[in-house]
Amino acid sequence: MGRRPAARKRSGPSRGAVRADEGNRLVSLDLRSLDLVPGTARALDVEIPVAPLRIGGEDYTADPAAPPVRLDVVRLGKGWHFRMRSTLHVAGPCWRCLEEAHPAVAIDATEVSIEGADDPEMVSLYLEQGVLDVADWARDAVAEALPPTILCDEQCAGLCTICGANLNHGDCGCGAGSVDPRWSALAELAERLRGPGVGPDTEDAT
Ligand SMILES: [Zn+2]
Ligand SMILES: [Zn+2]
Repeated sequence: MGRRPAARKRSGPSRGAVRADEGNRLVSLDLRSLDLVPGTARALDVEIPVAPLRIGGEDYTADPAAPPVRLDVVRLGKGWHFRMRSTLHVAGPCWRCLEEAHPAVAIDATEVSIEGADDPEMVSLYLEQGVLDVADWARDAVAEALPPTILCDEQCAGLCTICGANLNHGDCGCGAGSVDPRWSALAELAERLRGPGVGPDTEDAT
């Protein structure tokens, strides 16, 4: 699971869904504004901005920057249950060739918050004073749903370890005849030993 984030078919709006409109951006959700009584639920179609993720010193940005998100909110007797679903892409350098990678990411995360619960699992870190920090949650959910390696393509050939050329653009030419740089030093030495000190870099001159 999570290895192949299959593109999830977006289901139609369920009863009570709020359709996404232009400018339906949501950074935080004040639960009081939903006016839910215990035992009722609301489905929200919103766009949540996802801040860039920094991985290995590189920025990975969500595409779109504020992906469409289905947010399900259930008012429980003494708390809340939340579910966040979205499919988006993440753009940033490929881990093998450093050119742009654009993997699809599917998120499906849930949070529970029960009043007065001792179990930390039952106390959402994203809920404070009745306000759900959906932007923070979305960013963490994207980070968790990233593929284990971010590649421009599963078949990415990477860079030549000798000349640094991008091997996806074709053979660099130095691979076939050349050997590991450690061996080329030995080859030079062999050359010197074979010839009677005619090389420009011979060190055994007196
Ligand atoms: Zn690549
Ligand atoms: Zn090369």
